[in-house]
Amino acid sequence: MSSLRMSSLRMASLRVPRTSRLLPAVRSASSRAGSAPLLRTRGYVDGRWLSAPTAFPVADPATGEEVARVADCGPAEAKLAVDAASKAFRSWKQTTAKGRSLLLRKWFDLVMLHRDELAELITSESGKPMRESLGEVVYGASFLDWFSEEARRVYGDIVPSPARDRKLLVLKQPVGVASIITPWNFPSAMIARKVGAALAAGCTVVVKPAEDTPLSALALAQLAEQAGIPAGVFNVVPCSRENTPSVGEVLCTDPLVAKISFTGSTATGKLLLKMAADTVKRTSMELGGHAPFIVFDSADVDKAVGGAMASKFRNTGQTCVCSNRFLVQSRIYDGFMEKLGRAMEAELRLGHGSDPESTLGPLINAGAAEKVANQVTDAVSRGAQVLRGGRRLGGSFMEPTLLADVTTDMLCMKEETFGPLLPVLRFNTEEEALAIANASNAGLAGYFYSQDMSQIWRVAEALELGIVGVNEGVVSTAEAPFGGVKQSGLGREGSKYGIQDYLEVKYMCLGGLRP
Ligand code: ADP
Repeated sequence: MSSLRMSSLRMASLRVPRTSRLLPAVRSASSRAGSAPLLRTRGYVDGRWLSAPTAFPVADPATGEEVARVADCGPAEAKLAVDAASKAFRSWKQTTAKGRSLLLRKWFDLVMLHRDELAELITSESGKPMRESLGEVVYGASFLDWFSEEARRVYGDIVPSPARDRKLLVLKQPVGVASIITPWNFPSAMIARKVGAALAAGCTVVVKPAEDTPLSALALAQLAEQAGIPAGVFNVVPCSRENTPSVGEVLCTDPLVAKISFTGSTATGKLLLKMAADTVKRTSMELGGHAPFIVFDSADVDKAVGGAMASKFRNTGQTCVCSNRFLVQSRIYDGFMEKLGRAMEAELRLGHGSDPESTLGPLINAGAAEKVANQVTDAVSRGAQVLRGGRRLGGSFMEPTLLADVTTDMLCMKEETFGPLLPVLRFNTEEEALAIANASNAGLAGYFYSQDMSQIWRVAEALELGIVGVNEGVVSTAEAPFGGVKQSGLGREGSKYGIQDYLEVKYMCLGGLRP
């Protein structure tokens, strides 16, 4: 029996989580989280652990079992955090770049030292396999490392003056308090990527983690405190789904907040942009993607299959840069499908994230699994063929699914899937592939495989995207700019550009000089 089918059968028993055959692994994950040294369940404001009138549950997505109860901060706690960040900004902006750099480096060292515990927290609240959780911790830490270095490289300009009695200077200054609103799919790294840049620039922050995954944010707060990051510079206000709108309103409308940095759905991003408009806040928005993955006839098919596996199934398909639409040219279509099917069979093991054999975890909740299953049903009703998987299993689990004969009218080609569904459309010409790839309001990441150098340049330039992987399926790194065009967002994270999103440009004219 194939490993995939075996694991499918195993997962079918997850319909009743408490009696599932995976219970031992589940138990150990939950109890590990319960006794983890970095587990914190209160908010972190002005250097203190803050209670709230009520608490909300954090669940293991694989089983629905409660992992912890966390303080449910409301608008009052959010306001306290904004005030604390505003007060701390007065002194934090005066610190030297080298001082901030050293603190970020200490924080980085502590995150790396505690990477196993941080990874366990990520797995317990987001469900992702431990190997990926560890990868996330290291990826997130790389931004603390990178921005600890970038802090010392914020340069202004001296501009050639048109008048001899004046000098024209450009200063870079921190924008102020930044509200940081983050998603559940990278509970640790999305915070590190934003906060690393903000703190390096001299900004202070209030973080509102996703309601599903507050534990990683609070663990980072614990390590920030240990690293000596001063009170009020890094604040965390966890809250439930119910309290999110009122907390969000404080974070997006309070006049003391200068900047919002958000990663999440396009719909929520638009809502936050509207709220930001009243007080004209700076915004960075990392919103939804709809990544095309194009394989041209000239491609190395084995490499393309490897890239497709990595870019589709990482985090069980729950990243905004996961490939969503696969376009494969006619001549190599059949060979690609066969090799891809074999790779899925050989490499994918669905299971609880704490099981070392799992390469795919559950989706974040049952609704997410339902969405993927609906896309499969819709595609099949319009003529797609299920070559592998296709079934929704118990709870939040969905079989990794390969669809052939996909057409552009299917839901999976129109909206972001955020799950382990790999739909493949056959195309004939480069123009056709580009037209399909660019027919989207989203423009975050995309990938293509080709060995033809002229085609590589043509296609890379023509794709309407912020990030293009050429013969590569996983491209994110702290050194490179991450961000989208069109409705995928505003601004860039990481790289030398990331810190600029937290800086204002001030022009200073020094006049009255004697020539
Ligand atoms: P998803 O639908 O995948 O949960 P969201 O964009 O809704 O994605 O969530 C991303 C982040 O945005 C989470 O931290 C969530 O709590 C937050 N969020 C959602 N709605 C609001 C809101 N009205 N104000 C502030 N934050 C919000």
